[in-house]
Amino acid sequence: MAIEQFFEIEPGGVIKTKAAGARVFFVSTRGWAVIEKQLTKVFSSGAAVMLNEMGSSYGRGVAKEVMGFAKDPGTVLKVLEELSAAAGWGSIEVKGDIGRGEVLEVVITDCAFCADGELGPQPRCQFVGGVTAGVASEAFAAAFRATETQCLRKGDTHCVFHLERAGPSAE
Ligand SMILES: [Zn+2]
Repeated sequence: MAIEQFFEIEPGGVIKTKAAGARVFFVSTRGWAVIEKQLTKVFSSGAAVMLNEMGSSYGRGVAKEVMGFAKDPGTVLKVLEELSAAAGWGSIEVKGDIGRGEVLEVVITDCAFCADGELGPQPRCQFVGGVTAGVASEAFAAAFRATETQCLRKGDTHCVFHLERAGPSAE
């Protein structure tokens, strides 16, 4: 997935998406690991809630943007899969009944948010889980909750999220 296929690098420190002209920026995985570690230190278990909420808002935001071009959930998810690979998040694949938004599973290979994070017994991708739930909520117009069943940081080969409907749309 070529980065220049999706992003326009302008002079003066500005990078924009080619499709929407929306500005983006890089975040280093080491820097991200420091953010997570510090949030956990300061807010303990509240950090997971916060990261999930951040992810979910972000997911809704990017999904809304893509839905300005494509309404069909399958297309929206495909575009976001391609964008996330181009943006270095890792390789993301959404499985399940994408037409109806049922039994959805999201598999991430080489998750960037795990790249420099600490290992442990628990799954740790609360931010990415939030993103997947936020995207699904917009794409299927219903609230979704993500549960991470496998995570690179607990020794699994991939990060895997199960998406479940959490009730009516949480607008
Ligand atoms: Zn993970």
